[in-house]
Amino acid sequence: MDYKKLADLLFSDNKSDFTEIEKKYPKRILAKDAEVTRFAPSPTGFMHLGGFFQALIDFNIAKRSGGVFYLRIEDTDQKREVSGASAIILGILTEYGLLPDEYQLKGGVTVGDYGPYYQSERKEIYKAYAKKLVSEGKAFPCFCKKTEGLSDVKEKREKKFAVGVNEDKDPCRNLTIEQIEQMLKEGKKFSIRLKSNGDGVSKIKFEDCGKGEVEMVANSIDAILLKNDLMPTYHFAHAVDDTLMGTTVVVRGEEWLPSFPLHKEIFDALGFKQPKYIHTPLIYKFNEKGNRNKLSKRKHPEADMRFFDKEGYEKQAVVEYLINLINSNFENWRKANPDSPISEFAFNGFKITANTPIFDMIKLNDISKEIISKFSAERCYGELLSWAREYSTENVDYLVKDKEYVTKVLNIDREKPKPRKDIYKWSMFFDLFDYMFGVPHTYEIDEQKKTDFCEVLKTYKDYLELSSKDAWFDNVKKMAEKLGYAVDNKAYKANPESFKGNVATVCEYIRVAITGRKNSPDLYEIMTLLGEKEISDRISQFV
Ligand code: GLU
Repeated sequence: MDYKKLADLLFSDNKSDFTEIEKKYPKRILAKDAEVTRFAPSPTGFMHLGGFFQALIDFNIAKRSGGVFYLRIEDTDQKREVSGASAIILGILTEYGLLPDEYQLKGGVTVGDYGPYYQSERKEIYKAYAKKLVSEGKAFPCFCKKTEGLSDVKEKREKKFAVGVNEDKDPCRNLTIEQIEQMLKEGKKFSIRLKSNGDGVSKIKFEDCGKGEVEMVANSIDAILLKNDLMPTYHFAHAVDDTLMGTTVVVRGEEWLPSFPLHKEIFDALGFKQPKYIHTPLIYKFNEKGNRNKLSKRKHPEADMRFFDKEGYEKQAVVEYLINLINSNFENWRKANPDSPISEFAFNGFKITANTPIFDMIKLNDISKEIISKFSAERCYGELLSWAREYSTENVDYLVKDKEYVTKVLNIDREKPKPRKDIYKWSMFFDLFDYMFGVPHTYEIDEQKKTDFCEVLKTYKDYLELSSKDAWFDNVKKMAEKLGYAVDNKAYKANPESFKGNVATVCEYIRVAITGRKNSPDLYEIMTLLGEKEISDRISQFV
């Protein structure tokens, strides 16, 4: 077969020569150990937490080695394209401080010399390389209808495992040039398949930077390289793009691991050297029954990065939480360095913890509480307001008008050596502090204590004193003593039956009357902020 003739026949319109293309993508000039990484999402309109997890690894590997991190949009599957999707992805990366060094905005700027950064704009490049492979007898046209790329490969693989025979070789590899010419004349569409050399038995080994040595059966599938719209499959684009664009480390989900042998054969056919790989584990979550499921957009709102924004999480908390999932030594480092910026942590994208990452909201909340507890009241106010401007617009006027009061509320038990750790997201603020903005709707009262409760509050009206914390507490104690509550804790512990309770019991009654809750931050601070009139009103109403 005259492969050169076949290539010209199939790609008569493609004038791009791969040697010319390669001149446009010179080797990047970087320091010896500098790594080039990329984040390569499909434009599906949302950013999955698992994708962000990978981008975080990509960014850190590139930045910590003095390399380059770029964004490539894998939009060859035109059906899945959501308009504005790449702006969403770039927006999230930027907000989280992972701005790529190179990227492209659809219909807008391109930053970087290795673009286009949209695969759909690289069609001629893929065709040039497919043409090269055909001209060397390493690929061939296939006129069969089913040309869906990945699903095709998967289906064949499954079939092969089921039957235990090698059925991977595509019948179209045996077409004669005359038959091909005839079909082209009839206007039949074709895809381009790799002519695999694999026998379905031989094995290959490779070193995954995260998982260590992996042994797999070498590829034997005549996989599709170009679909019948002549757009590349993921596999072919991966080989062409990551080579031309100079990627040195590919960080991708472990669902791609089974395709590695195919990628190896494609790289070999093209005469390209493969980059290093880190196949990252998928993130799971336990359900109420204790079974774990893959974090999915359908089942778990937190699979979508926008969730954290809407809920008003601090970005640093999300980042710290994920680093903690990636590097198991992060937690100890954080304990030893509570105030250091994350940039000082020796983040190692090559040392991903072997444990399956399980998304744990409680852990995230704890990390977030810790971070927010260190903020000044002023900073909290700023964060709360900017969250409200996006997601709680009905509260913005109030927040702006009563900035001073809101800041004081935020300052209760804050800016102290042991600050309170109750807020973990801004959307909880108005619920958590509802009693600072209106009379409580419910009261946590134990039924059997109701009489004592009322007695204390009726009496307290005469003891209300807010001039200083000491004066306030002295009066609470005086009243407690008068009503038969212990003021001396030792005496109370030694002889609890002789008292109705102790000062803490009395404080709890006052707290419930004012806030509706048994637990709250510093009661005196709350009372002074609400003011004497409001407190008397609430007590009267309660009684
Ligand atoms: N577009 C692919 C995906 O979203 C990229 C995988 C890779 O990073 O190579 O899964």
